[in-house]
Amino acid sequence: MINQVSAMNCEMCGRNIENPYDVNVEGVVMQLCKNCIRFGTIINKPKSIIKANKIDIKKDEITEVIAEDFAVKIKNARELRQLMQKDLAKEIGVKESLIHKVESGGMEPSLDLAKKFEKFLSIKLIEKQKEELNKIKSNKNTLTIGDILNIKQ
Ligand SMILES: [Zn+2]
Repeated sequence: MINQVSAMNCEMCGRNIENPYDVNVEGVVMQLCKNCIRFGTIINKPKSIIKANKIDIKKDEITEVIAEDFAVKIKNARELRQLMQKDLAKEIGVKESLIHKVESGGMEPSLDLAKKFEKFLSIKLIEKQKEELNKIKSNKNTLTIGDILNIKQ
């Protein structure tokens, strides 16, 4: 019986294979047929069936920002509640001078502080901005293992 030279043979069972798997069998890389891949760990799948057609790095970043009119909002809400600046300061645990700075627009409150104002005064100070970053369109081309490795590097 004469083997066909052009075809690959499975190194495990000798079967003719067109698309060998590279399989690590106890430390030795062998080219095996589909039936024999269970004897080891697949390193490479047959290149023809690799479909890495969706490399989609999508990152929605939510950025929290303080509303531009924070000073007015805080002042109005405080006055509505007939609170003095020192009362408000006491309620949310900050210095009166800080309230003064914030209400005069001289200082933008930190997110933490803004959240305290929001909670105590029932106002909305923090606005969420959604940014889409690094959006890469799906690559419909079939990639080889080599391409994938290059991308990862
Ligand atoms: Zn085999």
